[in-house]
Amino acid sequence: MSFEQLKKKEQSKKSYPKYWDEKIETMPRKELEALQLELLKDMVAHAYHNSPYYNRVFNEQGINPDTIQTLDDIKKLPFSNKKVIRACQDEAPPFGTMVAVPEEEIVYISASSGSTGSPTASPFTQKDFDDWIDFESRIFWSSGMRPTDRYCHALNFSMFVGGPCVYGAQKLGALSIHAGTIPSERLLALMQQFQPTIIWTTPSYAWYLGETAQKKGIDPAKDLNINKIFVCGEPGGSIEVTRRRIENLWDADVYDYYGISDIFGSCAAECEEKSGCHFAEDQILVEVINPETGEQVADGERGELVLTTLKKQARPLIRFRTGDIVSYTTKTCECGRTSLRIDGVHGRVDDMLIIKGVNVFPSDIEHIIRHYHELTGEYRLVVDRVNHLDTLTVEVEYVEGYTGNIEELAQAVQTDIKKSVAVSAAVHILEPDTLPRVTHKAKRILDNRGNVWGR
Ligand SMILES: [Zn+2]
Repeated sequence: MSFEQLKKKEQSKKSYPKYWDEKIETMPRKELEALQLELLKDMVAHAYHNSPYYNRVFNEQGINPDTIQTLDDIKKLPFSNKKVIRACQDEAPPFGTMVAVPEEEIVYISASSGSTGSPTASPFTQKDFDDWIDFESRIFWSSGMRPTDRYCHALNFSMFVGGPCVYGAQKLGALSIHAGTIPSERLLALMQQFQPTIIWTTPSYAWYLGETAQKKGIDPAKDLNINKIFVCGEPGGSIEVTRRRIENLWDADVYDYYGISDIFGSCAAECEEKSGCHFAEDQILVEVINPETGEQVADGERGELVLTTLKKQARPLIRFRTGDIVSYTTKTCECGRTSLRIDGVHGRVDDMLIIKGVNVFPSDIEHIIRHYHELTGEYRLVVDRVNHLDTLTVEVEYVEGYTGNIEELAQAVQTDIKKSVAVSAAVHILEPDTLPRVTHKAKRILDNRGNVWGR
């Protein structure tokens, strides 16, 4: 960045306030929890009176709006999940029995991908949509976006809830480029032409795009003007080593975002301190539970993220089990914001591999192998069962031009895995460019054990 650009950046920062919505963002937690309790009471009453599904289930379980007297009373409400949403939808297509407003009030739907069953629709009223977009502006602002920025939105627009997040950037005043998911050559050409300062994509794609640029003779760090990369959809953005490698490739800061199609395009995002994703706690009530017992886990421990919408009118979602494994903190962030932060997503409950009784997440392995500069960072986990025993093989690649001893390198990686994950793994080091490059949600597990977990 030239001195002139730097000066302009500093000046522009000074003239803008620090927060988008200071009152809500810096509210003391006691006050915030009192606000959440009021919103939760209203939400439960709305669901009880207007959603056929909730009315039935609450009556069956002896729950009514008076059940909620404290925030802790949320534990009395039943969990929901993707299967419940799908069953409600099948009962009364196309929006389902969970919906709590007449159809004429619904103005937008997104649909989740149908990879694990029929797509589920996520309906919004105009107020739901406006609340969401204002929240997007709030988190973009917290990540440092200002009206002086040029923002390139490189997420899918086709029925995907991440698409309309771009309006948050427009509302904030940034110049917004609706790029969508176009071929990387076109995206790079567009970036050379308009020189955006911020881009939003997945961590795998940010990496892939940077490497593709390099192969075309474009240095992403020098020839492009990107200084912030927002990432979502995969754990990589919160894995320190992965993040640093993307940051070095682009000479930009990476900010992790967390979204869920059944609620908002993003429900949480990192501020400029980059120390965990701040949740929209005036919109969403967060619980982190032990996936087996359903009990709340302590600050810093890993558990399944469970979310309850506090304002959404079209389809209230209560105690929705996301299947994402996170850890959290409610300590006030260095940025002054008081909202609960999650330390990224460690993996999916479904992706959790049980190898000889030990819980292993792909992100644990990723964290280890991306410390090695001798390796490309691509990897695949292959799980087999030999003589009734689970075996884990970690496939990685050495970097172009590596001339060291392959066996010694494999041994070092193996020792590291054993030390930090407590699992014995065979490490196979392959030639560069052998493993498939993933451009969307990284699928890095090959489990050959069949349907052993009854899934
Ligand atoms: Zn913060």
